[in-house]
Amino acid sequence: MDVYVSVDMEGVAGVVSREQVMPGESHAYRRACALMTQEASAVVAGAAAAGATRVVVNDSHAQMTNLDPELLDPRAECSMGFPKPYYMMAGVGRNFAAALFVGYHGGAGSAPAILDHTYASRVFRAVRLNGVRQTETTLNAALAGHHGVPVAMVSGDEATCAEARAALGPDLVTVATKAAFGNQAAYSLHPTVARQRLEQAARDGLGRVAAGQLRPWVVPPPYLLECDVTTTHTADYASTIPGVERPAGRTLRFEHDDYPTVFRALLAIALLGGLAG
Ligand SMILES: [Zn+2]
Repeated sequence: MDVYVSVDMEGVAGVVSREQVMPGESHAYRRACALMTQEASAVVAGAAAAGATRVVVNDSHAQMTNLDPELLDPRAECSMGFPKPYYMMAGVGRNFAAALFVGYHGGAGSAPAILDHTYASRVFRAVRLNGVRQTETTLNAALAGHHGVPVAMVSGDEATCAEARAALGPDLVTVATKAAFGNQAAYSLHPTVARQRLEQAARDGLGRVAAGQLRPWVVPPPYLLECDVTTTHTADYASTIPGVERPAGRTLRFEHDDYPTVFRALLAIALLGGLAG
């Protein structure tokens, strides 16, 4: 059984501030990388206990070189670096029995939620698919679902877990690592307790997949992607992408029947829009 693990940083226990998640030389960031890696390892251990024979851990934060490969459970393979196709979901495909999302965060505009954003905080104020507000959890779950891969578990702060269950269904296994007071303040579990819960949740989630309780989350076509961006300058940059329309000054839209193509359009808007000053 192959298991896919996508690991972000904002939802990791003990991580609350922008300084902690900003790549660089700071002690705070380096500590956060270790916390992130150890949460990933806990999930790898849970997946192995549930019968996984191959676990791929995809570094899904910022420049995607945050995981400490040596600290990671050696039963895992690691995918790192940037850019890579499909970004937080690089390499996902039909061979995987399930996907697990670790260290995730609330969507842009969630509150109270630690470091809420959707893909690019400087680019997106809101992302909608067929009129429904999206988060990284739902956008990524839909790509997994396109490949027939169910999401077995989501971890992050309470807002992240609530959004994930509301979208993907109440049977989804979630681990709330923190209760946010605001954008950069939270009550956090001790990292050791968080890891124990993550290991158990990975086992439980994969068990529910095996029992047929958790099914791939499939969003049927056609797809209308709408992005409210932060500035008109951002929209100027991103609207140069072929096929991207601009129905309003700070709104972009993209229509297609193929979800991976929609996902790539979103990433292109994020990357190109991010170049606007
Ligand atoms: Zn992140």
